[in-house]
Amino acid sequence: MTSLILFSTFGLLKARTQKKNKVNVVTLGCAKNLYDSEVLMGQLKANKFDVSDKNDNANIIIINTCGFIENAKKESIDTILTFAEEKKKGSIDKLYVTGCLSERYKNDLEEEITEVDAYFGTRELPRLLKTLKADYKHELLGERLLTTPNHFAYFKISEGCDRPCSFCAIPLMRGKHRSTPIEELVAQAKHLAKNGVKELLLIAQDSTYYGLDLYKKRALAELLNKLSDVTGIEWIRIHYAFPSGFPEDVLDVIAEKPNICNYLDIPLQHASSSVLKSMRRGTTLEKTNQLLETIRAKVPNIALRTTLITGYPGETEHDFLTMLDWVKQTRFDRLGVFTYSHEENTHAFSLEDNIPQEEKQERANLIMDAQSQISLELNEKKIGKTFKVLFDKIENDYFVGRTEYDSPDVDNQVLVPTKESFLRIGDFSDIKISQAGHYDLYGTVV
Ligand code: SF4
Repeated sequence: MTSLILFSTFGLLKARTQKKNKVNVVTLGCAKNLYDSEVLMGQLKANKFDVSDKNDNANIIIINTCGFIENAKKESIDTILTFAEEKKKGSIDKLYVTGCLSERYKNDLEEEITEVDAYFGTRELPRLLKTLKADYKHELLGERLLTTPNHFAYFKISEGCDRPCSFCAIPLMRGKHRSTPIEELVAQAKHLAKNGVKELLLIAQDSTYYGLDLYKKRALAELLNKLSDVTGIEWIRIHYAFPSGFPEDVLDVIAEKPNICNYLDIPLQHASSSVLKSMRRGTTLEKTNQLLETIRAKVPNIALRTTLITGYPGETEHDFLTMLDWVKQTRFDRLGVFTYSHEENTHAFSLEDNIPQEEKQERANLIMDAQSQISLELNEKKIGKTFKVLFDKIENDYFVGRTEYDSPDVDNQVLVPTKESFLRIGDFSDIKISQAGHYDLYGTVV
């Protein structure tokens, strides 16, 4: 009996020791959060931690949360509660929470979910590492553990935002705009290219504001020129551009440089000038249309992605129909819609959130119905044409790839049956489109 007790105690101790320092990083929210998690994982790996975003039986859990809008906050809280239960059951030893929700609601969270060992803000990586008895390795600047397929990487060029958009809580969580110096970004890009990355997805809160803090001028075009000279980078994709004060020299660089995708993600949020005014977007419908015309004139076959909000306080039926009609006229290549979320401490929080959630959703559905039809019509025009496609994965007997007009996870996919061809994930291939769906294209290798 004694030996049995001894054996089981020793067995348990041994098992516990085996699980030590195995970290699982759970990332919620946007690509900027994913980038931060990858930097955190790079630091932990350099400190000899066994870390990944897929460590099922890890004993240390770090949740990188999102605090942007209601749905995202709910998902973050549910995830924390799930792991808090695991901690209560003893299947994990340590639970840490970082990211935007933690930045925004730290005090409330500390009071309400006490199973969490510590909460960290969005700019507290060194303190988080110290808590894990890890050193912050300055020499690793920009180096990270990629969680995306090795051939593409999200590339954060700045943090924070100086814009006053009335509905947005991001500046509360991410602070003022801070551009990363061009030299550092070029060094990061070279490091990534040396490790097999072919596509950089430029991300920021506002990528077109790049450089205004550091160089007192808009420097996105200069940065793009430098990045496009990095050997091995075949695609550079711009996300999160801002309409007002848009630096048109960026369009010249897109048009000139073959390795900068003819693609632009530019969230426009609304099309009614009175709503844009209340949103403090610093632009009007007329100016927006002028900008879109200029973009399409300077880069004729550019794919435009935008994001809109329905149900903003005071949005009338007329405002909404103006936006719906504008979507039908403008024919964006890619489009997403959020329903307005009434966020405390934002400027719009002082307004009455007077549109019922069902109505907000109904308006969003009407826009997406119109967009789905536009997307089908634009895709049908691609039948018979050949496109350079980068293959990301195999799914359901298909090689799944993207053209330069498609960003991962949010845009269209090109599908090639696995039984008909052999393609390598991470490689480019020329694909002739034979069939078109609302959001998918089917094709064969040329
Ligand atoms: S540009 Fe506006 S919407 Fe975007 S992060 Fe900044 S404040 Fe928010």
